[in-house]
Amino acid sequence: MRFRRALATALGCFFLYCAAFAVAQPPAAYEMPSVIQVPAEAQASSHFDATAATNAYLAQIPADKTARSDAYFEGGYWMILWDFLYGAIVALLLLNLKWSPRMRDLSEHVTRFKPVHTFVYWLQYLVLTSVLVFPLTVYEDYFREHKYGLATQTLGPWMGDQLKALGVNLVMGGILMMLLIGIVRRLPRTWWIWGAVVTNLFLIFAALIAPVYIVPIFNKVTPLNDRKIVDPILSLARGNGIPAKDVYTMDASRQTTRMSANVSGFASTMRITLNDNLLRRGSPEEIQAIMGHEMGHYVLNHIYKGIMFYLIVTVLAFACLRWALEWTLQRWGEKWQIRGIGDTAVLPLVVLLVSIFGFVLTPIDNTFTRTQEYEADMYGLNTSRQPDGFAQGAIHLGEYRKMSPGPVEEWLFFDHPSGHNRIYAAMRWKAENLKLFTGQ
Ligand SMILES: [Zn+2]
Repeated sequence: MRFRRALATALGCFFLYCAAFAVAQPPAAYEMPSVIQVPAEAQASSHFDATAATNAYLAQIPADKTARSDAYFEGGYWMILWDFLYGAIVALLLLNLKWSPRMRDLSEHVTRFKPVHTFVYWLQYLVLTSVLVFPLTVYEDYFREHKYGLATQTLGPWMGDQLKALGVNLVMGGILMMLLIGIVRRLPRTWWIWGAVVTNLFLIFAALIAPVYIVPIFNKVTPLNDRKIVDPILSLARGNGIPAKDVYTMDASRQTTRMSANVSGFASTMRITLNDNLLRRGSPEEIQAIMGHEMGHYVLNHIYKGIMFYLIVTVLAFACLRWALEWTLQRWGEKWQIRGIGDTAVLPLVVLLVSIFGFVLTPIDNTFTRTQEYEADMYGLNTSRQPDGFAQGAIHLGEYRKMSPGPVEEWLFFDHPSGHNRIYAAMRWKAENLKLFTGQ
């Protein structure tokens, strides 16, 4: 749910700016070995024990690496709070200093045609808020990522990507805002229902075009031609009734050292993409395990279930928004010089209220996603039959995630099962399927 995060970041805290300068030296190389070996305790044998095998895998991670990824991930918990608070302060500034009504007045001078007027407001709003949250953005996405050895870009190309993202937000956000303001003006009583429906249709449309039109703005996507890698993946896909003809790869190493793969888009733009970090560092078993997981998302219809879930969440959000807007505008509308819900100057208030809703909903959103990820893990194990590849993948992903959180911590903050739980699930599966590995 990058969109929500992008929105949160686009809103997003104060004096962290100074912390950004703590990172002057280049990052130390921070990579696990390319291929993680199967430890003795995880080899198939008559005395195989899932817990001992899990602990043996975890023991392969050096203590300093664990401390580092724990610190990175736990810092991320605080970033959720700082993003939220910073965003709230920016929104309150725009309202109380009356910058929002000034931007509206300016856009009304530019044009009388209402949709264009909305777009001109959006342009000013986006540029102003991007500048205001820039200190937090540069800390969070650049300096902090470099500090933990996860980023590969220098400041110039990073800024280039930020400007591209601004362009995408300008177009996509502008279209959405014109649609929503139009709906509020025409349907003053039922706008919140239609607004929720249109927002969802818009997000579906964005997800549909993203792999083909948005991802290539930032990264080079190419069909993968290495038969040694592609053939087992396509075979796995055919066996699972997935009509994939190509597997794609993208140069994620341009921005990051993270390994990942995904199923993106849907219907005709549905595709499986492996990033180049995974190709470079993952063992064949690991790649197959991860692909099995991605196919699980497809076969278990996670995209459609996700759409249903977010439709319900958006309707609830719009219902809360309608109530909260009426309440706040009654009290402070005049002071903030907002004429009503259909006035473009209401945007900072809407963003503030939606960010409160999103902040409160974080654990529920995480739990919904984490549950689907667990399902995909189970599917991936059953279809790829690569529990050790799976464990290796969990260790690689642990470079930027805490491996062994407490249960409450996992419930609140994890959008994937923790590395510990993923390795244990793989070893549990192996324990019940030992005959596949002992050849008996
Ligand atoms: Zn997944």
